[in-house]
Amino acid sequence: MTALLVFLTGYTIRAVVITVGYHRGLAHGALRLHPALRRFVVIFGNWITGLDPKGWSVMHRRHHAFSDTESDPHSPANVGLWGIVFEQLRSYEMILRGLARKDPEYTRFATDLDFELNWLNRHGLWWLPYALHVVCGLVLALTWDPWVGLAWTLGILSHPLQGGAVNALGHSIGGDHRLREPDPRGVGGFASLSDRALNASSCPVDRRSTPGSG
Ligand SMILES: [Zn+2]
Repeated sequence: MTALLVFLTGYTIRAVVITVGYHRGLAHGALRLHPALRRFVVIFGNWITGLDPKGWSVMHRRHHAFSDTESDPHSPANVGLWGIVFEQLRSYEMILRGLARKDPEYTRFATDLDFELNWLNRHGLWWLPYALHVVCGLVLALTWDPWVGLAWTLGILSHPLQGGAVNALGHSIGGDHRLREPDPRGVGGFASLSDRALNASSCPVDRRSTPGSG
């Protein structure tokens, strides 16, 4: 029971930073974060989630702009249901490299994101948050209970697998978005339901910040 609560705590912390901070706050501007909170997300979000806030936002904007086309950074239409986790990782790394060299193909999706790639990624330390969470898990395992340690590590690092599952299932079962009328939320069918399951509510698209959309 304690391990389950610890898992849910780690899962919820990660989910709030990704869905409220990165997704709705930074990527879509669907809510206005208090400046101090926005600064916290920009600086410490990467330490919590292991994902760069600028890189994640650009990847997500490209996902909406090019949904289920060849340029979609993570679509099972391109790589199949089981290829999606690796595809997300490959696209994420490509986008980080593109932003680092200021490639307009990527920077045009970040014109309103007035912050650099996270310090971790600018110094080749992307792995440090993952190592930190694993060490925290080990400390909990040794000082409290092995299951509690495992639960913390799995909960706080759940996003890559969870995000992959949502994208894989949502977009493969949801069908081809290009054949539908545009959904005002930017997603459609089962993908809309799954995106909402991931994000706890609907998923509005800020058209001003997604130049490839429309
Ligand atoms: Zn979205």
